[in-house]
Amino acid sequence: MSHFDRATGAEPRAADAGSESDSHAEPGLRSEPGTEAEPGRESAGDEDDAPDLAAGRRTESRLPPAEAFAALGNDTRVEILEALLELGADDAPVSFSALFERVDLADSANFSYHLDQLAGHFVRRGEEGYEFRYPGRKVVSAIFTGTLTERAQLGFFPVDGACYDCDGDLHGWYVDDTLTIGCADCGTVHVSYPFPSGGLDDRSAADLPEAFHHYVRHHYCLAADGVCPECTGTVETTLVADPDESALDVAVEHVCTRCRYRLRSTVGLTLLDHAETLVFHANRGVDLNTEPFWAFDWCVSDARTTVVSTDDEPLRVRLALPCGGDELRVVVDETGTVVETTLAE
Ligand SMILES: [Zn+2]
Ligand SMILES: [Zn+2]
Repeated sequence: MSHFDRATGAEPRAADAGSESDSHAEPGLRSEPGTEAEPGRESAGDEDDAPDLAAGRRTESRLPPAEAFAALGNDTRVEILEALLELGADDAPVSFSALFERVDLADSANFSYHLDQLAGHFVRRGEEGYEFRYPGRKVVSAIFTGTLTERAQLGFFPVDGACYDCDGDLHGWYVDDTLTIGCADCGTVHVSYPFPSGGLDDRSAADLPEAFHHYVRHHYCLAADGVCPECTGTVETTLVADPDESALDVAVEHVCTRCRYRLRSTVGLTLLDHAETLVFHANRGVDLNTEPFWAFDWCVSDARTTVVSTDDEPLRVRLALPCGGDELRVVVDETGTVVETTLAE
């Protein structure tokens, strides 16, 4: 029945490991150019304390996970992080007095104690005041994305488009932080992928599929480009024949060498930002950036995927992508790289 639930679902255990290591810097990676994980912090202030930054990161990385989580197991400390955000710590340091005023605590000694517990790993204390360190900023983001604090559910709601298999109506549902879109008639699951519950705020069920499309597409394209969507580590991609726990004959497996995050998908999903695939569709009036990817059988099933290698050769497959009466044939090698395209008009 379901062609795709396991095929696309990120494995929860690996995903958990990923978010855990998110908050623990790896010194080896931090020192390399281009892996800087604080995009909002390229300010002059950071240059000043650049040597300290490297040293500081090493200290951060040594904070054991249990201690990091213990430091956050207190409402006042979480309130302090939220207050930092509200007081504009992303732009400029926040003074002790401004923070103290904002956080509802009568006793300033008690307040100082909690602030001290955050300093170092989550918060940077400078002459001008307090700023986020990257793990502290991530905690605040996680609170707002709802991944730490909320549990949301959303029952069946109609989704535009039709089932690629039987032309039936599509519907979606949201349970356990995962959004699933499937066919109401034949039961085929088209896509199922973790989606932070904060993404349900300010969006109607009608708007949700579009956001979901962009989010999932972005994740798979990142992984296909060698970047881990969880931790920005290096991703290795391989084709796998007859993967475990999957109805697929051939799948693509992305594994992060850093946090071990794993994503498995159809081969077709990795073609969503392949230049010739995009142009082929664009020339026939289909924009793959905006058209929900689950509308295409080549993308969410392996119905149009054929193994073209022999048993003793590295795995190689050909996908046949139909559009506007023409067909684009794409050959993908064992590393998920497109090695050949042919247009059949
Ligand atoms: Zn169907
Ligand atoms: Zn990773």
